[in-house]
Amino acid sequence: MSRDNSALKIIKKVTGRATSDGAGVNLTRIMGTPELNMLDPFLLLDEFQSDKADDYIAGFPDHPHRGFETVTYMLAGKIRHKDNAGHEGVIEPGGIQWMTAGRGIIHSEMPEQEDGLLWGFQLWINLPATQKMTEPKYQEFSKDEIPRETRDGNIIVRVITGETILGTEGPVKNIATNPVYLDIRLPAGTEFSEPVATSNNKFIYVYSGSLSLPDTGNRIMKLETGDLAVLGQGEKLCITAGTDGANCLFLSALPLNEPVARGGPFVMNTRDEIEQAVRDYQEGNL
Ligand code: MN
Repeated sequence: MSRDNSALKIIKKVTGRATSDGAGVNLTRIMGTPELNMLDPFLLLDEFQSDKADDYIAGFPDHPHRGFETVTYMLAGKIRHKDNAGHEGVIEPGGIQWMTAGRGIIHSEMPEQEDGLLWGFQLWINLPATQKMTEPKYQEFSKDEIPRETRDGNIIVRVITGETILGTEGPVKNIATNPVYLDIRLPAGTEFSEPVATSNNKFIYVYSGSLSLPDTGNRIMKLETGDLAVLGQGEKLCITAGTDGANCLFLSALPLNEPVARGGPFVMNTRDEIEQAVRDYQEGNL
């Protein structure tokens, strides 16, 4: 494990909390909690992982969004989505749906299965004030459309958005906050290093296995499955997998530094804008 001073260091570590959302889906909220309210421009991170239908079958029936982006990434199982503009499809294992809600949509997100494992993530990313009322749009890619890089030690990097040092570009493009979204899978004991944009906010979330990286005192800290670490200053991500390997998500994006007003499924800059979103929804103008 290197103690390279340019390596990204952990400034905060949190573990998700069990909660329920939608019509009664049991999930783990990792960001959007009292421990980690947000990491500008990231607003929320949920992980749902269960092979018990009762945990997920109720799904997320019709609900609105305005002012930000919802990013759904599936590891196992399928989710059918359907919106009020006639857009419909199924997100399959390994697939991504990047939905820019913009001025607003009403949609449902329902499991496309009655048993078996459902495992995935939903991340919310804020939009700048200038794009909160943009036309809604989707960028959707299947597992086969997301490029994979193989690094030394058989490390696999799936690039959803952004570009790696080796030049692999993710298929999701033209996102306001210039994000990087990597799914990194490290065999036991391997080390991974990747330069990062120093102006971005960054975090890593371990979804299986364990890994280690330095903290601000340059002590090597271990992250276990279910741990999220907010990463501070540094020029490159340097992680070392534990004895069972590690699978993790790495996210990086430009902070907006704008006021954030949250109102459930709406995220705007002011309370007045939240109230307007509620009225627009109630009056059928979303
Ligand atoms: Mn939704």
